[in-house]
Amino acid sequence: MCGIIGYVGQRPATPLLLDGLKRLEYRGYDSSGIALMQDDGINVMKKKGRISALEGMLNGHIADSKATVGIGHTRWATHGVPNDLNAHPHSSMGGDLVLIHNGIIENFSELKEYLSNTGYTFTSDTDTEVLANLILDFYEGDLLKAVVRALHRVAGTYGIVVMHKDHPRSMVVARKGSPLVVGVGEDEYFVASDLAAMVEHTRDVIFLNDNEVGIIEDSGFRHFNLDESPIQRQITHIDFTLEQIEKGGYRHFMLKEIMEQPQTLEDTMRGRLLPDGGIKLGGLNQHLDELANADRILLLACGTSYHAGLVGEYVIEELARIPVEVEYASEFRYRNPLIPPNTVAFAISQSGETIDTLEALREAKSRGALGLGIVNSVGSTIARESVGGVYLHAGPEIGVASTKAFTSQVTVLMMIALLLRQQRMGLDETSQDITDALRRIPDQVSTILKDHSQIVDIAKMFSRASNFLYLGRGTQYPVALEGALKLKEISYIHAEGYPAAEMKHGPIALIDRMMPVVVLAAQSGAESAKIISNTQEVRARDGVVIAVVTEDDHQMDNLANHIIRIPKTLNLLVPLLAVLPMQLLSYYVADLLGLDMDKPRNLAKAVTVE
Ligand code: GLU
Repeated sequence: MCGIIGYVGQRPATPLLLDGLKRLEYRGYDSSGIALMQDDGINVMKKKGRISALEGMLNGHIADSKATVGIGHTRWATHGVPNDLNAHPHSSMGGDLVLIHNGIIENFSELKEYLSNTGYTFTSDTDTEVLANLILDFYEGDLLKAVVRALHRVAGTYGIVVMHKDHPRSMVVARKGSPLVVGVGEDEYFVASDLAAMVEHTRDVIFLNDNEVGIIEDSGFRHFNLDESPIQRQITHIDFTLEQIEKGGYRHFMLKEIMEQPQTLEDTMRGRLLPDGGIKLGGLNQHLDELANADRILLLACGTSYHAGLVGEYVIEELARIPVEVEYASEFRYRNPLIPPNTVAFAISQSGETIDTLEALREAKSRGALGLGIVNSVGSTIARESVGGVYLHAGPEIGVASTKAFTSQVTVLMMIALLLRQQRMGLDETSQDITDALRRIPDQVSTILKDHSQIVDIAKMFSRASNFLYLGRGTQYPVALEGALKLKEISYIHAEGYPAAEMKHGPIALIDRMMPVVVLAAQSGAESAKIISNTQEVRARDGVVIAVVTEDDHQMDNLANHIIRIPKTLNLLVPLLAVLPMQLLSYYVADLLGLDMDKPRNLAKAVTVE
């Protein structure tokens, strides 16, 4: 998920690696490290915290190393808290082989068990160290072959760069689901997860595709498929600016993160949906009995995470039949809450540092609840203070307005609901249907994102509006709240989300031809007919309706002024699709108003003040 840089050439590697790592800092990371090929073996230095901490450590040791081959990594932890030992590079037992890795090795616990039984020992909690020992286990003198054989045993995602002390002028690279690109210079080669790390030195690059490996040597770069058949790929000349590269070719981090969602949702579900419809959430394994016997579930959160929690309330109550309460963390902690026995509390926070949510978790625990976490940042305070939980694995979120974290939070809550159901009632057809539908979500998300020109057009029509109303029922009500919040956060236009039926108890007084009303109507069944009536109430007062409906639903055709169609899924999963037009609409409105949605006024990414 984070940064990789490697160098084979004639120049001292250390400054090139450190500069490369600094170029990758914008992605967010928790630790960094480098490995240098020295005369007497491979020297690894790594440190938790900023790259400046690593530099401080290098000064006394190898900063003046003459090594001309080396690798560097910025880590964004997925397995094991951020600390010095878990930082990359990772060495195989004995230290002859060293590698850096971006991504997740899904079957690392099975592989670790196999390797432990064979006599390997481990010094970190990472999935990556397992891969280092696995490659060593296959090593018989040919590093490329060993990597290929090991990768055939691996499930998951990786961008890796591997060095072995017996091959001092080469490194092996491989990619599946995590980007990697080789840079070709004058008598030198780079490899990086991101062009930003090497663009200062070369703009001639070879992109690796998934399931490809390669070996960089002084004599050149050789490139293969995983079945070892050779690949000839043209060199591509890059002429993007550094800023364009950092934002992945998008104009803003927010848009990049919106567009990343097919991938982040795959990552959130990776290894957690079993073929029979079962759910595996490693971080909850120790607490399955308490979950099965829970009499009440509390979801504690703020902002966008609170909206994800509201979706969670619907899905957990529906699937597991356990009463759920969603609470603003800040309100919960100050109101002398009642926590009956068998209460399970989940604190939901992208950063894992939101102070109100952290304090609410502490409060719930101190009153006897089982305190669990749903967070994105591994090793964050909420993650450490929870007795268990589920990581989002959505990768660092840089845009202040949360987008990809929301869809991952909803997906995690969905998986928790299914796990609870299965603990209480066993596996059934409903579980199978929902996991099948979840597996289709990333493709459906891609479909919505691929052609969204219509949403740009709608944004153009309404960017000058002063107020917006968002309406939804059932699982679409939290999406209405989230749509309104997104618009407020980045475009500074006043917007309100309301349960559609509540409109007649107040907000209907505001409706006139100046009021765009976004109606979230993409669910089927009883709620569908009701939301049509609510829409008629808006139209009867000259309100302008932008409706989000499923692709085959024509009930709004003669009613709404603008219709956005999304693919069909189960009612419980609609929020995962319906929120995308909301994110895009607010992004484009803010863009048309000339605002910087990556740094909206008055807002911070991790809210660590009460
Ligand atoms: N899964 C690896 C770890 O937790 C790689 C993390 C990354 O992509 O930065 O160390």
